[in-house]
This record gives sequence, structure tokens and C-alpha cells, in this order.
Amino acid sequence: MTEAPPIDAIADETAYAEAVQLAADAAAAYYGDGTSSLDDDAYDRLVRGIAAYEKAHPDHVLEASPTGKVAGVVGDVPHTVPMLSLDNVFGPEELAGWTASLERRLGRPVTAWSVEPKLDGLAIAARYRDGRLVQLVTRGDGSAGEDVSHAIGTIVGLPGRLADPVTVELRGEVMMTARQFEEACAKRQAHDGTTFANPRSAAAGTLRAQDRPYVCELTFFGYGALPLPDDTSDLATRLREWPHSRVMDWVAGQGVQTTAGTAVAGIVATSVEQVQQRVEEIAAARPELPFGIDGIVIKADDAADQAQAGFGSRAPRWAIAYKLPAVQKITKLLGVEWNTGRTGVIAPRAVLEPVELDGSVVTYATLHNPSDIKRRGLMLGDSVVVYKAGDVIPRVESPVVHLRTGDEQPIVFPEVCPTCGGEIDASQERWRCVRGRTCRAIASIRYAVGRDQLDVEGLADNRIQQMLDAGLIADFGDLFFLTREQLLGLERMGEVSTGNLLTAIDRARTRPLSRVFCALGVRGTGRSMSRRIARHFGSMEAIRAADAEEFQKVDGIGPEKAPVIVAELAELSDLVDKLVRAGVNMVEPGVAAVAGDEGGTTTAAPGGDEPGALPLTGMTVVVTGAMSGQLAALSRNQMNELVEQAGGRASSSVSAKTSLVVAGENAGSKRAKAESLGVRIVSPEEFAEMVAQLLPGRR
Ligand SMILES: [Zn+2]
Repeated sequence: MTEAPPIDAIADETAYAEAVQLAADAAAAYYGDGTSSLDDDAYDRLVRGIAAYEKAHPDHVLEASPTGKVAGVVGDVPHTVPMLSLDNVFGPEELAGWTASLERRLGRPVTAWSVEPKLDGLAIAARYRDGRLVQLVTRGDGSAGEDVSHAIGTIVGLPGRLADPVTVELRGEVMMTARQFEEACAKRQAHDGTTFANPRSAAAGTLRAQDRPYVCELTFFGYGALPLPDDTSDLATRLREWPHSRVMDWVAGQGVQTTAGTAVAGIVATSVEQVQQRVEEIAAARPELPFGIDGIVIKADDAADQAQAGFGSRAPRWAIAYKLPAVQKITKLLGVEWNTGRTGVIAPRAVLEPVELDGSVVTYATLHNPSDIKRRGLMLGDSVVVYKAGDVIPRVESPVVHLRTGDEQPIVFPEVCPTCGGEIDASQERWRCVRGRTCRAIASIRYAVGRDQLDVEGLADNRIQQMLDAGLIADFGDLFFLTREQLLGLERMGEVSTGNLLTAIDRARTRPLSRVFCALGVRGTGRSMSRRIARHFGSMEAIRAADAEEFQKVDGIGPEKAPVIVAELAELSDLVDKLVRAGVNMVEPGVAAVAGDEGGTTTAAPGGDEPGALPLTGMTVVVTGAMSGQLAALSRNQMNELVEQAGGRASSSVSAKTSLVVAGENAGSKRAKAESLGVRIVSPEEFAEMVAQLLPGRR
């Protein structure tokens, strides 16, 4: 992995003071209530920036600087056995170096290795007496921690009572799963309009919170069991002598959650190759996990191996943490988009300078709500902390204010609903379109009946709203089931307009599949993409049967878009069924349907010729200017349809890749550009001849 660019450079004394304050706030928040938005990596980089500045300006050093002190509040409950941290390795070579050095130290091969995920939460000691959970202690500084026993009963996977009445200390990680995190954010947002920075800080804050009016659920995964130091019982002896993996089986047997039931269960490996393989498997599974991990822990499994290897000054010599890349990074906030959801909530979405996080490139992130944006003081052009781990939705946290250049711009808030243009109810934390649920409906119906989709003439916005209000329709599929009586019952709807509308709706049943598909409004599929999809599959049945892999065979659909289309089609299933029942055309004229089972594609010309027989196969065509002759009546969209039916690809801009420009009257700059690039230019009449075989029978 490449290092992030050096954006921590601190320009002057003011910026230095701000940076010190940011670091102090982050440390205080993290150790205090756990709401810090800086993870270890971001915090370290900030501190390095501060240290570099202090080295150059030793007379400026502030007392609060994080370079001169250990931040944090340490609890006062001593640990029976210190809770040590682990040393880290980064990458396979360092891991191989560590396993070799451990075996050199032992003078023999390690008996077996345990390989487990390193959970991204807070280490905790759970003390059981006679099988009852009596005390929870945070790690603190490793030798003493804070008593957080008030959290007993709110932690999934950490039972109040073990299966056996034993006295033992369990160690493990307290964290929030993605689901728990979303729930906690929703609760907090409902309470005071704020959210948590990320699952780890949410877990830290929740664990310490004693007087919150709402309760957030946590999750525990055990990773060890220790008898009390002076315990000489059989169980204590066995726990000291068993291999780590056997101890974990015992822990699970007591009713405590371990990673055993997860996709990244701990395993025992007998060779370094197996260790490396499991490390790769766990790393690969990470983006799909319902909880965060920040590495993989590799241990000598055998108790005798552990005893012989012993402890270094800060960490055991028989265990190591294989670190995975950080899930929080700093990037630029380029813009804010506003979208109205199904229930009418108007949600802001951050557009980011793409940044790689947890195995995927993040371009968009959640911004919660308008007051949250104001509270955080976000501005366009800000450097922002972005978090993404597991299946948590990427989110933008605080701006890094000391990185501001002065060119940042305020974020513009919408004045009308971005979907329907209606009024906004801004009285709550979350803004809403006053139309609520019908907002999306009106927008999607309006789109579906538009000229380039189903082209239902005479269906104005106020009519759509009227039908929605009367409960006659909920989506555009319902239009096809409207009766004369229903329409006549509407205000200002006479015999003539009713007849015209019913005729127009009836005509919409015969549109080609490309337009019917386009009418669905599947994200990422506009007119030309809909045409490509329709030509590729030939029928709605084939489209619905296709999986993400099949969709990727369509030109312009990549691995990111394909699953989105599949998921949206599944959501639209009822609507599509309704259209089928309504007798709406579900095939693309002149295209044989893809045989779903074989997965092959058959794109045939009208008359069933080979694809190569289409006149524009392989050509990128730009249409510009006014059409004339046979093509005079065609809209730009219909021209593009024609290009694609003829096997070409319609484009709106001229480049060196353009094969042909159809230039009518007043063609202007596109024609000039085509001339300068030497691209072939034809008149509408010449083009009509090229595609003559497709013209008869056009609407
Ligand atoms: Zn609206």
C-alpha cells in the first residue's frame, strides 16, 4: 500500500495551535466519551505533523501538545495479569520474519499456530465469580483499567451466567456490529441530532456512558480465559496447560460468543504457509463482514511454546498482530448532493475525492442531515475524515480545519425538494419534502410517462398528483388499470380528455423494451444504457433472469454498477409484474432474447441476420443539428435509438474515437470539431440511406 500524501504539514503558528487543539480534543474525546473522529492512523499523522513543526519552531511549543505527554484517563482497577498490546507486522515478509525468529528462539518448529481475526473494538476483562458476571474492566493502560460494570446486560455474546459455576476472567473485544452501529446512530440522532463517528468510538462511548437516556446494544467476542493467579483448581490448571484453541472451545462451551460462528473463525494452522493462507482469506472476507476487524492475530497455539517464548518489555513474544490497512482516511469534500428518499426525507450525500478504504474505492459518503453539516462546520473543499469498514455505509466525519487553505466554500442547502421541486419541511433535524411518500412517486411516474420513455401524451404533473391523491395510482404500472369511470370521477376531467388519456395510455403498452426498461428508472441506466440492455437481453424475462455477471457483458456496465442494477430490479419486481399483467410490451423489436441458461448473447438484426450485418456495427455516431428528409420528425433520442438499433453507439460529443457525425442544419461546433479531427461527416439524407433497412415501419 502506498503512503497517503503528506497533508499534515503545518504552515504557521495559528495552524499549529489549531492542530494541537484538534489532537487534544481527539484524545480527550476518545478516552473520555469515545466520540473522537480521528482513528489511530489519522491521529498519528496529526501528531507527526505537530512534532515536525515543533522541531522547526522549538520556541512555539505549547503545553497542551500531544508530543509531550501520554493522553488519556486511566482507570483505577488493577488487572490481575497485565493486558498487553501486541507487536505489529505489515505484510507477508514481516510475518515470515516473525515466525522464523520465534522458531529460532524456541530452537524448534512451533507446534501449531492459531490464526484469528483482530476485532476492531475495545479490549475488556469480564470477571466471573462462581459462574456469574460480576465486573467489567476496560484495558486502560494495560496495568489498570476503568470499571464499566454498569454495561453488564447490554452486551450481546457476554452472558450474565456461564454454563458452569466457575471463577474465571474472560478477555475479549467489545464492539458494535454494523447493525448495532446504525441503530445506535439512529437513537442518538433522534435524541440530540448527532451521530457517532464510527463503530469503535461508538462502542467506546457507549461502554462508558452511564446516564444516557437511551441504551445502545454492544457485542462481545471472547479471545481468552485466565484463571486467577492463585487459583489451583483443576479448571485453572487445565486453562494454563491447554492450547489456546482448546481454551477457546471451552469459552464457547460456556455460552460466550467467540469468532467460531463467523465467516472469519479462528483456525489452527500447522505450517507457516497455512498461516499466510488464512491471513489472506480473512483479509479478503473483511469488506463483507457485519463487524469491523483491523488485523489478524497469529499466536503459538501451544501453552508450552508460549511459556518458552515468554514476554518482551511491552508484548508477548509468542503472538503478533498482522495489521490491515486503515479504514479511516482523510480526503477532500468535493461536493454535496441532495436526494429525496422513499419516505420524503431529503438526505445530503458527500461527493469525495475517491479514496481507497477497506478494499473499495469510496466516492460517496453519508452526511446524515443539514444540521449535522452545520454543527460539523463542513465546507466544500475541506479535508475530511472518511470512515468505511465492513458493510458499514461510508461516512464523513469532521473537517480537518487546520488543513484549510481559505479557498473553501460554504455548502449550499436546497430551497426546494430536489426530486419534485415541492416545498421543504425544515422544522426537524431531518428535512422532508412536504409531499412525503408521494414525492418519489410523482417524480418516478413523471419520468416514466415522459417523451423518451412511455410517452403518455397529455399526462401533466397536476394530473399525476391528482390521481395519487385520489389513491387511483401508486406507481406508473397502475396507470394501465385505470378505468373510464375512475378518470371521469376526477375534477376537471371530461369525456374527451378521458378518452384521449386512455388512448395515450393504451399506446404506451406498445413501446419497445428499451423504453419500458428506461421507464423503470433503475439507477445508472439512462436512455442509451437502457437501449444497450434491451438489445443485449431482448426480453424483460431475460433481463430479470440475469445476474450481476451477465449484466457486466453489457457495454458500459462494470462490476460496481451490475449488482446495483440487479438489486434495484429485485426491488422493482412487483412493478414489473404489474406491467406484465397490464399487457405492456416486454420485448425489444428485432432482437432475439438471450437464452438465460447458456448465458450467451444473441444480438440479431431485424430479419435475424448476424450482428455483423448491421450497418453501424462498431461505430460511434454523433448526431448534431436539425434533422431533415425522412428523419425530420425524429427527436434526438429517437435518432440515438436508430443509431443503436443499427448496431452503433450513440454519443453526444465528438472526439477522435467518433466514427461518424450526422450533421444537419445549424450543426455548429460539433461539425467544426469533426472537421478538425478528420471524422467522417454525413447529411441526414445520406444517413437515412445508410440505415434504410431500419426505417420502414418506424413510428
Ligand atoms: Zn419532493
